[in-house]
Amino acid sequence: MRAAVLTGLESVELQERPEPEARPGWVVLTVEAASLCGTDVHQYDGRIDTPFPRVPGHDFSGRVLSVGEGVDESWVGRAVAVKPSLPCGDCPECHTDKPFDCKKKKLIGLWSDGCLTERIAVPVVNLIPRPDGVEAWQAALLEPLAVGLNTVDRLRIVLGESVVVLGQGPIGLALTRLCALSGAGRLIVTDAREAPFAVSRAYGASDCIDVTRTDATQAILDLTDGVGADIVIETSGFPASSAMVLDAVRKEGKVAHIGWANDLPPLPVIPIMAKTLTVYGVGGNGGRGQYERSLELVRSGRIDLDPVVTHRFGLDQIEEAFATAASKSDGAIKVVVTP
Ligand SMILES: [Zn+2]
Ligand SMILES: [Zn+2]
Repeated sequence: MRAAVLTGLESVELQERPEPEARPGWVVLTVEAASLCGTDVHQYDGRIDTPFPRVPGHDFSGRVLSVGEGVDESWVGRAVAVKPSLPCGDCPECHTDKPFDCKKKKLIGLWSDGCLTERIAVPVVNLIPRPDGVEAWQAALLEPLAVGLNTVDRLRIVLGESVVVLGQGPIGLALTRLCALSGAGRLIVTDAREAPFAVSRAYGASDCIDVTRTDATQAILDLTDGVGADIVIETSGFPASSAMVLDAVRKEGKVAHIGWANDLPPLPVIPIMAKTLTVYGVGGNGGRGQYERSLELVRSGRIDLDPVVTHRFGLDQIEEAFATAASKSDGAIKVVVTP
């Protein structure tokens, strides 16, 4: 079968790979749709260390082709979405039927070969049945929503609070929509490109700040009567954006850091103490119903994913897919790959 393989920095190619096999407790899926995310792109550009060669990709959906020993045959033929972290299978949580509390779970496509291929094996516990009315490409875009929900779950937004979302990539846009659904009052977003702002506004943003033209910290203070926002969420992973969070939040406010990169500055503790802040680190998609609820928000139409998909490619166009996602050229937000 064909698979996209990262062979080194900024190098991806199609290769023939052996068919996957369903071990006990696992299934083999036909991949129907996959999307590229910041992690895949940073594996490609070197901001996240990756053992090469590696088949990347972890946000995907498909259909069950075969099942391993101990898995109910009724899974065969079912359409599914897939949670992207593999439980270790050998810790107290895994042994007591709570695999998503596993402390050693590892992201598919980073620590093992991923979904940018025609077929893949995953544990049955990672599957979520895909309801009627949710298409494969939609179910391949759940991760940013699940990460966003994991953030909103922690922040406990109160109706009418002012919220800033720094960065309007897929996770930033997901958070814009989720914060609007959660009752944010003034909802300020930033990005270094104008391209995503049309989606930001459609998702409920009240103010869009282009950080290349405006002093974002000052603009946020101006929009919040000089006191800063109740909540500031950093999703971009850019050092300058990460560094402005503590200046943009009000005293006794809350901040969340989600944007990930190897070159982020250390978090200064003095302003955190001086402003009596609550700081949340969000390192993933939670695994406590966030995937299931994301799927429900899509199914029910509360979140329209259509505006974020700017590019679609076949697996045989994988080089172009990665180049587009990495350069964010041509207004790219989400790139969907269909094997
Ligand atoms: Zn991802
Ligand atoms: Zn485990």
